[in-house]
Amino acid sequence: QCVAVCPTGALTEVDETGKVIRALSDPSKTVIVQTAPAVRAALGEEFDMEAGTLVTGKLVAALRRLGFDHIFDTDFAADLTIMEEGTELLNRLGKHLAGDKDVKLPILTSCCPAWVKFFEHQFPEMMDIPSTARSPQQMFGAIAKTYFADKLGIKREDLVVVSIMPCVAKKYECGRDEFKTNDNPDVDHAITTRELAALIKLSNIDFKSLPNEDFDNPLGESTGAAVIFGTTGGVIEAAVRTAYEVHTKKELPRLDFEELRGMEGIREATIDFDGLPIKIGIAHGLGNARKLLEDIQAGKSKFHAIEIMSCPGGCIGGGGQPYHHGNVEVLKKRQVAIYQEDKNKAIRKSHENPHIVKLYEEFLGEPMSEKAHHLLHTSYFDRT
Ligand code: SF4
Repeated sequence: QCVAVCPTGALTEVDETGKVIRALSDPSKTVIVQTAPAVRAALGEEFDMEAGTLVTGKLVAALRRLGFDHIFDTDFAADLTIMEEGTELLNRLGKHLAGDKDVKLPILTSCCPAWVKFFEHQFPEMMDIPSTARSPQQMFGAIAKTYFADKLGIKREDLVVVSIMPCVAKKYECGRDEFKTNDNPDVDHAITTRELAALIKLSNIDFKSLPNEDFDNPLGESTGAAVIFGTTGGVIEAAVRTAYEVHTKKELPRLDFEELRGMEGIREATIDFDGLPIKIGIAHGLGNARKLLEDIQAGKSKFHAIEIMSCPGGCIGGGGQPYHHGNVEVLKKRQVAIYQEDKNKAIRKSHENPHIVKLYEEFLGEPMSEKAHHLLHTSYFDRT
């Protein structure tokens, strides 16, 4: 068994590639795969391609040749996360502005499992502040094993969900009890970008020569807002694109929020929601997160919403990515690739993803509905 160490210092990486190979070889199982946004901006480095080379189409082609039955995109679930988290933000903001003292702000993002584990250990008295929205990985698993399994007409036990993640902590997240039904996990196995590269090489697939192929539908359709989840500031920028239009009922005058981007460890910006100034904080790296949390504890925080990611640069710098040996230039090139992918997308706002709209119409009802709450939200635990 291959074991490596997570750079956040909290977790140990256990290679699940063998389990994925066994699932792919089992004719009684339907095996589907989701790939996180940051993977496409870094996988090429494992095949001697320049840092920041986007390999989305080759990634899909490789997964198809490895034998996955459906090739889907975690970005679909990132759009879903924005629908839920953005609605939660607006609900909390509305009540707070109306003077409801029981509603706390800022709301904190919750899609990074190492960050979730950090606040459960270090700041358990603040567990009511983060959004209750599950991470995109877990939203994908929950929808795959209900909505999509129903569409295929198979039992959840016969559907195997595999994740390709830039992240070591995502392996731990799959094993949390709240993401299982009758002991069957929503996501069965998570392997890292490096582990996928090793599997592609082991299978003698000539990655560089692969054609560009498209994700399958319905869980493969995504927007530019979802892609930018892969870098620091991207989750909150995606949330702003949707929350602004839902709140103001007006079309955004611009889609690129340069003031939310960059590599500074702590950043802040004020976004004008048509006369309502929304103050946003961003931190990447847990030392930086701690500073913002201590401000909240001391009652000094000025923010309405804060995005926190554990890894430097966000998921582009995740512990499962090709080694960058602390070279920030590599991270910057991956970040440029992520924003390029966003620009390449025909749709760049999560609430305009037609398959997300259909998912709510056919299955979930509306954001924060009872069903959405059951499948797409979670709870936190005091782990001191
Ligand atoms: Fe994982 Fe790092 Fe991304 Fe958090 S920031 S989800 S630990 S890769």
